[in-house]
Amino acid sequence: MADRNGLETHSLVKCYGGKTAVDDLSFYVNKGDIFALLGPNGAGKTTTLKMISGLIIPDSGAITLNDEPVGNARHRIAYVPDEPTIFPNLSGREYLRYTGRLRGLDTEIIHQRTMLCSGVFEMDGWLDHRSGSYSHGMIQRVVLSGAFIARPDLYVIDEPLVGLDPPAAETFWRMMEAAASEGAVVLISTHTLPIASIYCHRFGIIHHGRLLRTLSRGELSGADLQDLFFKVTGTSPAEVHDFFRD
Ligand code: ATP
Repeated sequence: MADRNGLETHSLVKCYGGKTAVDDLSFYVNKGDIFALLGPNGAGKTTTLKMISGLIIPDSGAITLNDEPVGNARHRIAYVPDEPTIFPNLSGREYLRYTGRLRGLDTEIIHQRTMLCSGVFEMDGWLDHRSGSYSHGMIQRVVLSGAFIARPDLYVIDEPLVGLDPPAAETFWRMMEAAASEGAVVLISTHTLPIASIYCHRFGIIHHGRLLRTLSRGELSGADLQDLFFKVTGTSPAEVHDFFRD
């Protein structure tokens, strides 16, 4: 294994029963880079992100962060699942205080970072309300804020844009860019290819658990990421125009 300052997966395999969800997956994400894992539904993205975050154990393979087994670095990882939840009786602020304390952060630091996140994600009007009353996008803003408040070395974020309105989505990307420019490693999975092609530094396309292609934004050189996705995965949108005619 080469020395690497960042995240590296080595021949990851994960099977569910007889089905291989992730198959010999090796890729790296350099420190300071935003890497987007792309793939059709069921390709193995969430399974990969969960293995990296330690939520499920690979059947084989290895994962390192800055050349250490990722298991030694759990406290330096923030994982945001694709369907985040908050205990409904907690307010967003209480959730952020709770997750900040679990990280061992000082109360004043949590308070300052919460104020910053509340400002950029426009949560001031409702952050003290019970989260049971929040919309999906409001929960997403709070949970993403929890990751930003932690300032981890590695962000693992599954489908960050689902539920976010355009300003919040733009804010999310700006926050990710700022975190990466401070040296964080950022791994996201997304289906929002046009926006990913603007903000992400590298892309990995997987299908049936196998990595088919990695490329940098430079290698994309202005080509349409969605077209490339269709070509590499052999997928395309269906013809539907006759459906409503009979
Ligand atoms: P999507 O884009 O739809 O979120 P994905 O790329 O994240 O998909 P995964 O959720 O990783 O895909 O699923 C990969 C494969 O593993 C799929 O075939 C799925 O049915 C299977 N799978 C995932 N989780 C489980 C599980 N807990 N038990 C059994 N099979 C699973």
